[in-house]
Amino acid sequence: MPNPPTVVSLGLAGGQGKSTVALMLGRYLGRLGIPVLFVDCDPQSSLTSFLGVQVQPDTPTLLEVLTQPEEKTKILDAIAPVPDVKLGDRTINNTNLFLIPSDDGLESANYKLASSGLSLFILRNRLQPIVNNFGVAIVDPPPERSHLAQTSLGAGDRWVIPAESNVKGVQSLLRTLELIKEFKGALPYGELLGIVPFRARWTGLHPTTATKTSIDTIRQLVGSELMLPHILESDVFKNAINQRVAPTDLGQPNLEYAIHVLAQRLKPALSEEY
Ligand code: ATP
Repeated sequence: MPNPPTVVSLGLAGGQGKSTVALMLGRYLGRLGIPVLFVDCDPQSSLTSFLGVQVQPDTPTLLEVLTQPEEKTKILDAIAPVPDVKLGDRTINNTNLFLIPSDDGLESANYKLASSGLSLFILRNRLQPIVNNFGVAIVDPPPERSHLAQTSLGAGDRWVIPAESNVKGVQSLLRTLELIKEFKGALPYGELLGIVPFRARWTGLHPTTATKTSIDTIRQLVGSELMLPHILESDVFKNAINQRVAPTDLGQPNLEYAIHVLAQRLKPALSEEY
């Protein structure tokens, strides 16, 4: 049986929506009954905090998983369950969600990865023995060209690139496509699922000029096939993240349309069980 897919949410600038897309894709798949392993590969550890996981002083994090031998740190010991969430009188059940967390100490893994000469494959190799316990793994890398970003790229066989719907987003997309091009030869199993324009702004029925221009530019750059629907600029998304739920839990499933389409693209790689 083939391994479950590992999705990496890539972007070489801050604030492009990497953690949001990783988080919401995982929550969406978790709601469908698919066991999800999140891997927080960013020392800023937004994903760890968005999921409400507290790193315990005596439990390993991704740092130990990447830098210590398997005999010393068992990867299973680093996997934390994502806690359920109270929303009014409801409980949002997170039983399908798991996380290998990080904290700012993860930064130091860059030195170890650099000296290994194999950073592209270290995370992939470490996940290999346990990934079959899940239906999908989702990796959130840091927003720069570090060894942590390289090991995230190499861990994935499905890449998605969120890019803010403005000039900075287009520039981040260009840099990210360059990164993929540079390493693609060594990663023949990697496939780009698509680009998600992030924080698209609309006034009434129309996109703002900046949003329209950037989405048109992105389409010209990557072609229509790779264009995914946009994520709208919306306080509902921010509230959902702060309350550790999804827009669907706040009665706004329409805001997750991009995530729904992304999940559909992933479907052929998921086990028939789901
Ligand atoms: P970094 O690499 O710097 O951690 P990132 O690419 O992971 O950034 P996110 O953390 O996903 O980006 O998102 C950036 C910010 O945008 C977050 O503060 C998040 O709360 C906010 N945000 C997420 N979704 C939306 C939305 N639909 N509308 C407006 N803001 C949003």
